[in-house]
Amino acid sequence: MEAETGIIENANGSARFKIGKTEAIAAVYGPSEVKPKHLEKVDRGIILCKYDMMPFSVPDRAKPGIDRRDMEIGEVITNALNRAVLLEEMPRSMIAVNVYVSQADAGTRCASLTAASMACADAGLPMRDLVASVAGGKIGDSICLDLTKEEEDFHEAAATDVPMGFLPSKNEIVLLQLDGKVTREDLRKIIEIGKMGAARIYELEKKALKRRFLNESKT
Ligand code: UDP
Repeated sequence: MEAETGIIENANGSARFKIGKTEAIAAVYGPSEVKPKHLEKVDRGIILCKYDMMPFSVPDRAKPGIDRRDMEIGEVITNALNRAVLLEEMPRSMIAVNVYVSQADAGTRCASLTAASMACADAGLPMRDLVASVAGGKIGDSICLDLTKEEEDFHEAAATDVPMGFLPSKNEIVLLQLDGKVTREDLRKIIEIGKMGAARIYELEKKALKRRFLNESKT
């Protein structure tokens, strides 16, 4: 895994997160005036997130532009960030989050969410916690963490994919999706292994942010 922040000069906050062969880059703009105006909330800020896969992120060339899958992923990232960012502290404002997947080998929504949360922190937004996100699952009889595309598509063993996002210091789950079938007991095990993975990601996120702010304070 690799994590770094402050990678895009022209954004208020930015980050890159790589896990295996999946890599996401996030840029955060704001808080700024809400556009379009009708989305404005008098008592809190709003987050608008766009997720996109770069054409060269997959062997088949991803079609440019936002499709239904991209919209859904943008929504789940927004929902998770809504729990992490203290939006009540910035009424009538908007935070734009743009996430681009530069390399995809499954788990892109999780890598994107982790990158987006680091970019929010890099932008100096008030937050309850960082989000650490990873997908778990089941391949045959094995409970696994961070499935690859090949593992996800392993139909003979009826693979199950469970993207998860955590606020580690609050012990809260902010993203939980399920693709496939799973028993209640196995889901519990997948969430446990997800929490363990998220704890490692969380440490990496904090290290990346500390590195950036220590360097900045030296200059
Ligand atoms: N994928 C692809 N082309 C697409 C969309 C997805 O090759 O247009 C691949 C990519 O590797 C992605 C994986 O399918 O990571 C799984 O996609 P899914 O929708 O399950 O979301 P993700 O696991 O990336 O969050």
